[in-house]
Amino acid sequence: MTSIISAEGTTIRISSAAPAPDLLSVARDADANVVEVGSAGVPALEPLVMVTSGGETAFHTDCSTAELETIVESVADGADIRAADPDAIAEHEPGATGMPTVDLPGLDVGSRHALRGAGWRRPTDRADHEAAGGFETADVTTVLDTVATLSGRGWGDICQDDPLAPTWETAMDADRAPTVVVNAHGNPTDTLLLSSAPLEVLDGATAAARAVGADSVLVYAAGADELAVETAREAAGNYPDSAVGIDVVAGPATHRAAEPTMALEAIEGNHRLEARIRPPGPESVGLHGRPTLVHTARTFAHLAVRLRDGEATDTRLVRVAGDVSAPATVELPESDTLSSAVDAVALDGEFKAACVGGRFGGLTRDLSIGVDASSLTAANLGTEGLVQILGDDRCVLEFVGKRTQFAAGENCGRCVPCREGTTQLAGLLRDIYDGDYASSDIEELVRVMEGSSICAFGVEAGRPAKTAIAEFEAELRAHADGNCPANSCPAPAEVT
Ligand code: SF4
Repeated sequence: MTSIISAEGTTIRISSAAPAPDLLSVARDADANVVEVGSAGVPALEPLVMVTSGGETAFHTDCSTAELETIVESVADGADIRAADPDAIAEHEPGATGMPTVDLPGLDVGSRHALRGAGWRRPTDRADHEAAGGFETADVTTVLDTVATLSGRGWGDICQDDPLAPTWETAMDADRAPTVVVNAHGNPTDTLLLSSAPLEVLDGATAAARAVGADSVLVYAAGADELAVETAREAAGNYPDSAVGIDVVAGPATHRAAEPTMALEAIEGNHRLEARIRPPGPESVGLHGRPTLVHTARTFAHLAVRLRDGEATDTRLVRVAGDVSAPATVELPESDTLSSAVDAVALDGEFKAACVGGRFGGLTRDLSIGVDASSLTAANLGTEGLVQILGDDRCVLEFVGKRTQFAAGENCGRCVPCREGTTQLAGLLRDIYDGDYASSDIEELVRVMEGSSICAFGVEAGRPAKTAIAEFEAELRAHADGNCPANSCPAPAEVT
């Protein structure tokens, strides 16, 4: 096996979501192995320069060219890696192939499994991935045994929070040969995986293809996520020859294009994106009529890690954004709570609430809720792995109104409960400004949307409004009385 780190030598890693050519040219002057790695998921620390010697790594955050010159000089002088005044030091096994835990915000929480290589290994480098045990070609029985304990991750996954195994069995029992789609559209945790650890994702996807008898894997992401698309293409080109062909397709930026059946429409080149009615689901009739497994990049990365480690590593990727100094993506054990995710970021102002579960997530003030799917669902929150923080100067009604208006404008229009429901819901929220707060009408409308919309878009679109009533009833009522407690809403007459 090849290792990118020799125990004797010194390695300088430069981690950044964006290319850092200035830093790279400085580092190449050093008498060291210099590698450009992807983002670790914490942009506030980037450019993050890591200097590894033996079993120690020095971390230099937000590193400037001048600072890196000092580091390079120090390395050239053969000085101890601590001499260049790092922000933190981590101790680890010599030749470590994954990011060690280090006392830096965002990198000091959770436990990295799917994200182990992110920010540490060169994203598309075969030798790095192989050194970390990648390109594992587990036999079909092992893959099927492993998937028996795995559930989906994210609304872009045909299984969402449900176990994968029954869906795979349907695809395997179909008359036509199945195919596999990696849905990395929209969700920043999926695009982080594609940008920083794409070979991990491909390991999971190709294992799935082998297990169900598929001969192709198609990676799908929004064209606007250029880095993810480009890195996935490079990784697909570098992937060792196998019986499974890998292709990458860029889709439109629109939010609904992440819905699994609309993702298939986009991949097939249809400009009018509408959800397909289920049943039959894509596992029976999917891409070009073939049985199709559509799972997110997260789901496939978790599968790859389980296959390699031989154990169920129950973690979830969570991205925290909103009223914070910079967003961060962390990987948390499912036994952890939302407060651990929030610990990864610096808040702008006082915490008021979190919208948990993506654009149509639920509002909560309670950060003691577990990050596992069943705890989040029981608390009326979403499981999309996205947490948006609302500071104390945020108006809940304005926030929920904008989410609902977005849903009204963005839905595909195929079914009445979502198409008409989101428009009516936006109207009911707007009526609050005129003194008409009809909470039971809102709740009843959301119930109908949840129960009869064709796809998850409509099922979830009313959740921000529903949870706002449950958590912020007094604030909504105050608006009906002409008062915005957060002092951020325009006067009622200005609200359209
Ligand atoms: S729920 Fe909304 S997005 Fe989904 S099919 Fe119905 S109208 Fe389209």
